[in-house]
Amino acid sequence: MAKEDYYDILGLSKGASDSEIKKAYRKMALKYHPDKNPDDKTAEEKFKKAAEAYEVLSNPEKKQRYDQFGHQAFEGGGGFGGGGMNMEDIFSQFGDIFGGAFGGGGGFSGFGGGFGGQRRVKGSNLRIRVKLTLEEIANGVEKKIKVKRKIQAPGTTYNTCSTCNGSGQVTKIQNTILGRMQTSAPCNTCGGAGQTIDKKPADADNQGLKVSEETVSIKIPAGVVDGMQLKVTGKGNDAPGNGIAGDLLVAIEEKEHDTLQREGDNLHYDLYVSISDAVLGGSKEIDTVTGKVRIKIEPGVQSGKILRLRGKGIPSINGYGKGDLLVHVNVWTPKTLNKAQKEFFESMREDENFEPNPASNDKSFFEKVKDMFS
Ligand SMILES: [Zn+2]
Repeated sequence: MAKEDYYDILGLSKGASDSEIKKAYRKMALKYHPDKNPDDKTAEEKFKKAAEAYEVLSNPEKKQRYDQFGHQAFEGGGGFGGGGMNMEDIFSQFGDIFGGAFGGGGGFSGFGGGFGGQRRVKGSNLRIRVKLTLEEIANGVEKKIKVKRKIQAPGTTYNTCSTCNGSGQVTKIQNTILGRMQTSAPCNTCGGAGQTIDKKPADADNQGLKVSEETVSIKIPAGVVDGMQLKVTGKGNDAPGNGIAGDLLVAIEEKEHDTLQREGDNLHYDLYVSISDAVLGGSKEIDTVTGKVRIKIEPGVQSGKILRLRGKGIPSINGYGKGDLLVHVNVWTPKTLNKAQKEFFESMREDENFEPNPASNDKSFFEKVKDMFS
């Protein structure tokens, strides 16, 4: 099923400005908000789609990728691009757009009933980038990374907020274009946390948090793609009081490999062989993501031949097998010859064995390319 265009979802045309995007999303989010459309699956779907579109279009980097490559920019990606967003993600996003209270999370209100009771304030998410070699991507890797995150400063104590009695929410009747609506909004006194600070140590900020450096272990599955985002739950900034910690969002970057080129799950390797090896056959060592391997060169191999090493590519992130390693044979023609060599090739000029004579099974370059993609 083709994915709907993010601009279409928000009712915008390409090239819409940041403020237009924000405005359009705000409108959609209000219109399809689950509180306003209880048990309406279509509305919920639209609400989620709009959130996903906004997640991409509100982020300059993702927007640029999307404008350039469309949905393919995030293909194979987990997280937002691939499989949509969950409600947690959507509501943590509301902090930015509807003006959050504490940190990035817990801003927008009115999400009490439908989705599992009282919402707790969430700490803000942290974002980091991790650069991986092709070998690490092929085999999966666990990275230990130092992260500066806000934690609850030891010694901070809290009181239950007297304005909202700890619920973090106050109920309001609002007149909106959709009529009179009862909504709940975050409590102004505690910012939605349900608690106010009683005592805090001198080195804590006004939420009772302080920055601490921690080593976080991040398990990166085999097959990740450049630009993909992984989430380490609870390793973002702590929330004050009994809120829940934000997440650590890990953006994957792929380092360029010296000799291997990635194309989806397949890898390409350019192999250069001498005329002698091409004529006589032999064996050559090539790079793979699991180390060097020796491959056989048949006598009479043609330049442009592609040898396919099955399963020597990158494992699929979705767990469906592995890609292949495609070895492109290039016959290297010497640029200078000594006298004897020159005489030898001169004498072979008229030799019928040296005449090009492609058999019907020696496919042309274009046919080979066609085969590769079919
Ligand atoms: Zn309160």
